[in-house]
Amino acid sequence: MKNLLTTQDELSAGKTTLQEIVEQYIESIDSNNSSVNAIVSLDKEDALEQAGRIQEKIKEGSAGKLAGSVVAVKDLICEKGKKTTCSSNILRNFESVYNATVIDKLAAEDALFLGRANMDEFAMGSSTENSIHGPARNPHNTDHVTGGSSGGSAAAVAAGMSSMSLGSDTGGSIRQPASYCGVVGLKPTYGRVSRYGLVAYASSFDCIGPFTNSVMDAALMLEQLAGSDPMDQSTADEPVEEYSKALENTEKLTIGVPDEYFGDGLDSEVRSVVEDHLKSLEAEGHSLVPINLPHTEYAIATYYILATAEASSNLARYDGIRYGHRADFDQVEEELKKEQIALEKRLEVATGKEHEELLESIAKADSPLIRLYKNSRTEGFGTEVKRRILLGTYVLSAGYYDAYFGKAQRVRRLIKQDFQEAFEKVDVIVSPTAPTTAFKLGENQDDPVQMYLNDIYTISANLSGICGISVPAGTHSNGLPVGIQFMADSFKEQNILRAGRAVELLHG
Ligand code: GLN
Repeated sequence: MKNLLTTQDELSAGKTTLQEIVEQYIESIDSNNSSVNAIVSLDKEDALEQAGRIQEKIKEGSAGKLAGSVVAVKDLICEKGKKTTCSSNILRNFESVYNATVIDKLAAEDALFLGRANMDEFAMGSSTENSIHGPARNPHNTDHVTGGSSGGSAAAVAAGMSSMSLGSDTGGSIRQPASYCGVVGLKPTYGRVSRYGLVAYASSFDCIGPFTNSVMDAALMLEQLAGSDPMDQSTADEPVEEYSKALENTEKLTIGVPDEYFGDGLDSEVRSVVEDHLKSLEAEGHSLVPINLPHTEYAIATYYILATAEASSNLARYDGIRYGHRADFDQVEEELKKEQIALEKRLEVATGKEHEELLESIAKADSPLIRLYKNSRTEGFGTEVKRRILLGTYVLSAGYYDAYFGKAQRVRRLIKQDFQEAFEKVDVIVSPTAPTTAFKLGENQDDPVQMYLNDIYTISANLSGICGISVPAGTHSNGLPVGIQFMADSFKEQNILRAGRAVELLHG
């Protein structure tokens, strides 16, 4: 798997053509996708047409900075005219009517788009098992998950089905699958990359970012993705660094090692892989500083209150009228009629309290429109999405708002403060990306809490809005990849990229 600059050299020297490159990726999809299930839709003709167009520009010497890259896109980022299913039955047939800003930005630099990548429904999950397309499988061992929710994007890069991909990270969905699949995954600072055209899960957390084979490729891609966007008011005006140039900076880094991230629940081999790296980085002249992030233990609870609250509100738009799947209206009318007849029959014989209750039920019966909403959502959403809508609605409900949502917002601030204090002393914070390597398919499927615990090291970066990267750090004795995570303060992506590069250099 070649990195972008090498590919570009070969293309401009005429050693290969973009058509040849794309054909190789298509071949790889044809032979691997039936087992890995990373790509959920693919338009080969369109890809070859793009290749022809970009190849012309390469010949003329007018190609953009990403010419030669072949990108898979997580199936929740809008590409005009292509299906955007979000792995949900409710959007099974939804076609995007416009491009996300990130798509326009990458296209302007001649990236080529090949295929849409599998994911957990509406990006809710840590395994890419919650998908109408079926689970994605880890290319290193197909009995194991890819991680999630951007599992297809991670697996596509790992299995050579694309050279890069786009994912989204709300609580770890880029970094954790990157770690499980042995590729680089970067979550930018909140507001660094436009969310316009990203289907919303939890809007104050969602970030789009790249998966790549190398830290340099992540820097090159981020350079194009980043920047303010009039279509997304939450993007920052902050100037965009030349991240690829920042990698030339070889000054040593001060690396914070949080005590709380190396405690119980961490697989002992994952721990030693990370600790061995820390020793080597220290030997290279980087300095290690013990730090504390005292509110870490509240991160998962805080995230799963706030993210589900935002999700319950964001997903209210799927009503079967404006978007996606609509239940059968004839069936709705039939159901309502049957229910009415049954109630009236009972009313004929009912007396006293029961009679009163039945009258109330008749008065409160669903209108056809309400029943259409209900049926469309019942048929359209999967179990995990329903669980989150219920949780989110509950924590926002009048009687519980202060106890849950309000409190979680305050804890979010404390978690943010922990990081602000730490970044006064250190350039980056290091941790494992996930407590274990990729687990087996089905292993956590019936235990949502166990699944949520997997996000322990990634979630705090989303709660505090800072950036993070996962870089491959080695292989566990079970044969699966282990990732190392670096986090840096907001708009300090250059620091995590430099730390990631330092790890790559250790591997030669
Ligand atoms: N695993 C987390 C969740 O299920 C994070 C998902 C994400 O980052 N999209 O919410």
